[in-house]
Amino acid sequence: MAKIFASPANYTQGRGVAAEIGTHAEDLGGSAVLLADDIVMDIVGDTVTESLEDHEFDTETMEFRGECSEREIERVADQASEYGSDVIVSAGGGKALDAAKAVAERLDIAMVSMPTIASTDAPTSSLSVIYTEHGEFEEYWFHSKNPELVLVDTAIIAGAPTRTFRSGIADALATWFEADATYRSHGENIFGGASTRAGHALAELCYETLRRHGVSAVHAVENGAVTESVEAVTEANTLLSGLGFESGGLAAAHSIHNGLTQLEATHDATHGEKVNIGTLSQLVLEGKDDAFVEDVIEFSLDIGLPVTLADIGLDDPTDDQLETVAEAACVEEETIHNEPFPVEPAMVRDALVTVNELGERHK
Ligand SMILES: [Zn+2]
Repeated sequence: MAKIFASPANYTQGRGVAAEIGTHAEDLGGSAVLLADDIVMDIVGDTVTESLEDHEFDTETMEFRGECSEREIERVADQASEYGSDVIVSAGGGKALDAAKAVAERLDIAMVSMPTIASTDAPTSSLSVIYTEHGEFEEYWFHSKNPELVLVDTAIIAGAPTRTFRSGIADALATWFEADATYRSHGENIFGGASTRAGHALAELCYETLRRHGVSAVHAVENGAVTESVEAVTEANTLLSGLGFESGGLAAAHSIHNGLTQLEATHDATHGEKVNIGTLSQLVLEGKDDAFVEDVIEFSLDIGLPVTLADIGLDDPTDDQLETVAEAACVEEETIHNEPFPVEPAMVRDALVTVNELGERHK
């Protein structure tokens, strides 16, 4: 199997960079459409439009209606095509960015990804997570390219609710463990290739960065402050985690997350919050040393992340519920099979109940 590494062409991060979008996007086209929901449009709409127009872009704006569904993608694509846009700029969270990636692929135009929260690793990736109109996970769409430009304004990131930032840390914390499992098993990354040393090393740097700067970054963001730690963790949550998971591969943590989404009771927990239970379960599944697992639990508590099933809405899970999660996590297409040993549902269920017990003991 050949090794594959891919990434966005340009990643730009810093305080106030939203106002410089025209400079960074200049070579990508001449007619832009900005896609954002009405809340995000209020925050960045004028700044982005002004900067693009200063750089000779014809600019239109479009409201994102909240769901990355096939129907929404079609609506946005039709409108962007009518405008004659050759660049789509998307601002917001994972769903707005994923919808725009699919539109860019469909119309064969450039994509600028502008995350306004550092909550997932969607901004740099070449895939879209497609949901039904009602928000249930449907499938992954894989595109032929990553965004041409990822623009991250850390002042906007630090001004967003802290829960989104914490969730991003959780999503990024999984990256190293999943990439390393894939590397050890010679499994496939998201591009269907083997891991490069680069993908593996970036995933490890992601983990080290979170451990060194995570706690102080969360405290800074609680106060809307941009510090060097916030810069470091934003880069870990967005760039290092994004490249690390795509080129490094996913394993048990995200499969267990996908299993957890089967239960209605977990729907109020964010993606990252559910992923954290997946990460801790993966460590137990892999038989990591007690001291190591406990250290990651302590770190999770320091950041304010879930360590028990009750923390993600499962106060008293029944055997049936745990069975449902474990079965869904182990279906054939799941990345859990990137673990360096065969994984069966009973092992996942046992890991979940063990994590729950350990988590309760540390609270
Ligand atoms: Zn994730």
